[in-house]
Amino acid sequence: MAAVVIASKNKNKVREIKQLLSGEALEVLSLEDFSGVPDVVEDGNTFADNALKKARTIARFTGLTALADDSGLEVDYLKGQPGVYSARFAGISASDGENNAKLLKLMEGVPREQRTARFRCSIALVSRFGLTECIDGTCEGLVLTEEKGTGGFGYDPLFLVPDLELTFAELPDGDKNRISHRGKALRAALPVIQRWLDAGQI
Ligand code: IMP
Repeated sequence: MAAVVIASKNKNKVREIKQLLSGEALEVLSLEDFSGVPDVVEDGNTFADNALKKARTIARFTGLTALADDSGLEVDYLKGQPGVYSARFAGISASDGENNAKLLKLMEGVPREQRTARFRCSIALVSRFGLTECIDGTCEGLVLTEEKGTGGFGYDPLFLVPDLELTFAELPDGDKNRISHRGKALRAALPVIQRWLDAGQI
């Protein structure tokens, strides 16, 4: 069966992406299926730059079609921060809790109408023969004043979906995937994957 390798070491992302690809005629691998995987320094200025770098490196390393996600939170009051620095907002090896605490501190006293934010995701696809595509997805929301919910990962407990009055951390994976930045980008990537499958590129 044709295979795609998810170029991410983030178990939460891999879980969400595997669920989104579950209906496809594809063997979906992750970096846990390989040893000696090279580290990719995420030093791009955009999510797309970083996603492409990860997908290119892993496609070259595995000889398979690679799919990479680079994503993060952009907070309007913080002029788009943490953005591409979302994973290391509070320091190079910061935990989700430390990143969330820093965000809450910076947003202390900011009124609800100024707490607008969005998750952004770039999905990069690099075929085993070097074809390349990059697709974006966003999801608008608000930064809460305290964490709510225990599901998901990262900034999920602070990210309120205004239409639902629920945070991402209060939604089961399936519901989050239906509206999330990652879900939107990946659904837009599915026709590309199908085209490449039909053309024998995967
Ligand atoms: P990356 O691995 O460099 O793409 O870092 C992504 C970081 O952005 C994660 O570590 C989280 O902090 C944040 N992030 C991305 N997507 C999500 C999401 O769906 N929920 C919560 N946080 C996210």
